Amino acid sequence: METNKILIVGAGISGLSLAINLKSCNIPFQIIEKQKHWSKKGLALAIQVEGLTAAANMGILNTIKNHGKPRNLKGIENKNGTSLKQFINNPSDKSFVIPRDILHEELRTKVPNINMGIQISGIKENNDSINVEFNNGNIASFNLIVGADGINSSTRNLIINQKKYKLNRKDIIYSGSVLWGITVEKKYDKIIEVWDKKTMCAMYPVENGTVFSFFRKAPINFYSPPENRTRDIKKYFSSYSQPVIQEVLEDLPEDIFFDRVRYSRPYVWNNSRITLIGDACHSLSPLSGLGANLAMADAEGLSHIIKKYLNDGNLLNKLYEFNAKRKIPADKAYQLSKMRTKRGMPGFPEILFRNIKMKNSYWEY
Ligand SMILES: Cc1cc2nc3c(=O)[nH]c(=O)nc-3n(C[C@H](O)[C@H](O)[C@H](O)COP(=O)(O)OP(=O)(O)OC[C@H]3O[C@@H](n4cnc5c(N)ncnc54)[C@H](O)[C@@H]3O)c2cc1C
Repeated sequence: METNKILIVGAGISGLSLAINLKSCNIPFQIIEKQKHWSKKGLALAIQVEGLTAAANMGILNTIKNHGKPRNLKGIENKNGTSLKQFINNPSDKSFVIPRDILHEELRTKVPNINMGIQISGIKENNDSINVEFNNGNIASFNLIVGADGINSSTRNLIINQKKYKLNRKDIIYSGSVLWGITVEKKYDKIIEVWDKKTMCAMYPVENGTVFSFFRKAPINFYSPPENRTRDIKKYFSSYSQPVIQEVLEDLPEDIFFDRVRYSRPYVWNNSRITLIGDACHSLSPLSGLGANLAMADAEGLSHIIKKYLNDGNLLNKLYEFNAKRKIPADKAYQLSKMRTKRGMPGFPEILFRNIKMKNSYWEY
């Protein structure tokens, strides 16, 4: 059995980014993906400073610049159409908004051997490696398993089982918000957010149209079966006066993205020969616009640690240090994420204070 390899679980943004980084250091890896085929998934991603740096190092910065649109927010209104804030080109905002499938496809072209439809079915740890059995019956031995398998990570469960540590409310937090998202072909060339009491809508022009994200503060157990989604979204946003929003609501497609917004915040990010990156250890609300950025930066940082310590026996200790460092930006992003949710759709009377504060010229988004 061949060893000295890295197993990447999940070919999303973090897993593919790690694969690209490892490939450029000539470190052998295997990457597995649970889906059998790629589905068109996700809406748009804002790629900001941290993500742009990681993208440049992976050689995909031009794709982001060519297919992305500068993310310049033009204004925030309330649902009656009253302007809450106008923004005049913010030159310090260097971020781009890019359709998620374009970014994913670009990452995929750089990782030729993704094992599709494969998952881990069992592991057995030895002194210097970890044996993995896959759902196709294959067995292989690795030095390290990297869980890049997103918010519903099963690799996270492997760590938790090893540590005999129970997943509890602190590990996955329901933010109390739900999100419906759609990309419409029509281009509304204005980036605008509409903030109301307990709901909000953000619209971003992208290369292939406009992405609409509808958020609602909702009870924690809120879950909308697919057949109810168009009905729900119309119900909660029909009182918005913006003609663009009403136009989109009138013509809703069937396949609206829907999710409850959850934060993954496991206390442990690694144990022994298993470690996590991306949403598996720190998923955020899309309102932070930072999850993919952190995912790419995690991958780049982890590849440096692997390159430096894989062969000197110190890798496992260094992973603890690395993860402790990565928790700092992840925690900051979590706070920002919570703050944006609170600010965009407060309850009453906070909405009144917020509107007054927004009138000040020093109020920053
Ligand atoms: C609507 C929306 C808007 C967003 N907007 C932004 C934004 O503007 N900017 C930003 O930076 N971030 C944004 N994010 C967050 C961003 O999408 C995530 O943070 C990012 O995708 C995390 O990457 P990941 O690789 O960790 O997880 P994912 O991209 O979710 O990838 C996980 C992969 O693992 C696979 N997988 C799952 N389980 C297994 C298994 N057991 N075995 C093998 N494979 C498995 C999945 O199929 C998937 O391909 C947004 C998220 C959403 C939902």
